[in-house]
Amino acid sequence: MKRSPEFQHSVRQYINGRWETGVTTGRSINPSDLRETVAEYARADRNQTDLAVRAAADALRAWSLTTPQRRADALDQIGSEILARRDELGLLLAREEGKTLPEAVAEAARAGQIFKFFAGEALRVGGESIASLRPGVHVDVSREPVGVVALIAPWNLPLAIPAWKIAPALACGNALVFKPSELVPACGWALADIISRAALPAGTFNLVMGSGREVGQALAEHPLVDAVSFTGSAANGQRVLLATAARRAKVQLEMGGKNPLVVLADADLELAVDCAVQGAYFSTGQRCTASSRLIVEAPVHDAFVARLKQRIASLKVGHALEPGVDIGPVADGRQLQKNLDAIAAAGEEGAEHVWGGEQLQRPSEGHYLSPALFLAKPAHRIAREEVFGPVACVLRADDADHALALANDTPFGLCAGICTNSLRHAMHFRRHARVGMTMVNLPTAGIDYHVPFGGRKASSYGPREQGRHAAGFYSILKTGYLRA
Ligand code: NAP
Repeated sequence: MKRSPEFQHSVRQYINGRWETGVTTGRSINPSDLRETVAEYARADRNQTDLAVRAAADALRAWSLTTPQRRADALDQIGSEILARRDELGLLLAREEGKTLPEAVAEAARAGQIFKFFAGEALRVGGESIASLRPGVHVDVSREPVGVVALIAPWNLPLAIPAWKIAPALACGNALVFKPSELVPACGWALADIISRAALPAGTFNLVMGSGREVGQALAEHPLVDAVSFTGSAANGQRVLLATAARRAKVQLEMGGKNPLVVLADADLELAVDCAVQGAYFSTGQRCTASSRLIVEAPVHDAFVARLKQRIASLKVGHALEPGVDIGPVADGRQLQKNLDAIAAAGEEGAEHVWGGEQLQRPSEGHYLSPALFLAKPAHRIAREEVFGPVACVLRADDADHALALANDTPFGLCAGICTNSLRHAMHFRRHARVGMTMVNLPTAGIDYHVPFGGRKASSYGPREQGRHAAGFYSILKTGYLRA
């Protein structure tokens, strides 16, 4: 098996163009091998967070007045370095977060592509010119930066999510403070290290690390922070919402999901099983878009479950760097316990256990969990609450209408998929699924970076992320009237 390198990162924060130690030090641990410290990292408190915000506020004018070409060049340089170092960054990601090496390298590449995409977008931050209602008057609508933005990210996509926040923030001319999750500080630092070489004015980009309750909350409450983009759990999103609403700051929240994948009787069953396996279990099921509810029409229910069980049983769970591993470890001990609690609750509530859900021993001590599958009823917690692990349930549907009703019977509304060969059913589902994203004959997880990303209901709040629509959050419209 390929071993990880022996070096340890000792990583610092980046504040006002300088690398800074913290008030305390934390350690991130490899979930595939708990003996390995991936990084010792500097942790901020409220005071140091305040310094970072003030640095951004001071830098804002210089960066907001740079030319689009300067912004595009900086983002392009960052994207090029990430792409050139995708293998090394992927290795770091796999060690720190636990996704398999191929998945991690693909995520690193995606982060690079996102910077490249927004390098182009920096040139296209445009407005419109509209005829006035009055003679001799010109009207134009232009976009200006929001100001100082705070970017708070989760651990499950530790390169891609920061990339899809940082890149549009810079493209639109904002100064920013980025706080990665405490589980993945080395990934946050690696991005900051690359960004530091783009020679942005000091203070334009700042990295602070530390607890969400202290550093994240301080960012959400800070009077100089004009906008907060948060991705994480619904509970913490609510805290950010309250803090930002109280001072009328702009806010964007991307939160959890309980995404349905509907399988109709006319579906290609092999394709449906593929979609379910990829959507529910790859990346250890730790994706907001994971297909954790598989809603199957009665005539194919038993055949689907039998085939899915066979496929899950063949999946290899193991060290993220081991070739051939399909599912890496759960990201940390707290997350593992949450998964085990959800699995236990499913059994207690009467959901029928089909496969998995046991802790596994591997040559290295890690948070290994076998992929779990249950047959559930709509009221079961396993069918209602986000688990955020390799755990899925199957719900039986009487017909296509019942399947759609079950798909919508959730507080969440991120992504919904359907496997069917009927154009009529596919179009009806796309129109009536109460979500932000739909998939037909595709897994619910796996999205493109050049189109809007986000959901409805408890999954999302505020303007969409990604693609050209990201500018809706990272800029403010100004309407100018002029009499010549
Ligand atoms: P989390 O615990 O809510 O943490 C997300 C980030 O918020 C972390 O950086 C965290 O800091 C910080 N935070 C915690 N409390 C805070 C507070 N009071 N104020 C401000 N920030 C605070 O979520 P997670 O466990 O990292 O990520 C898993 C969740 O993210 C799942 O629910 C998943 O569905 C969701 N997610 C959603 C999307 C999407 O786009 N919809 C994408 C990926 C993940 P620390 O953890 O470092 O203390």
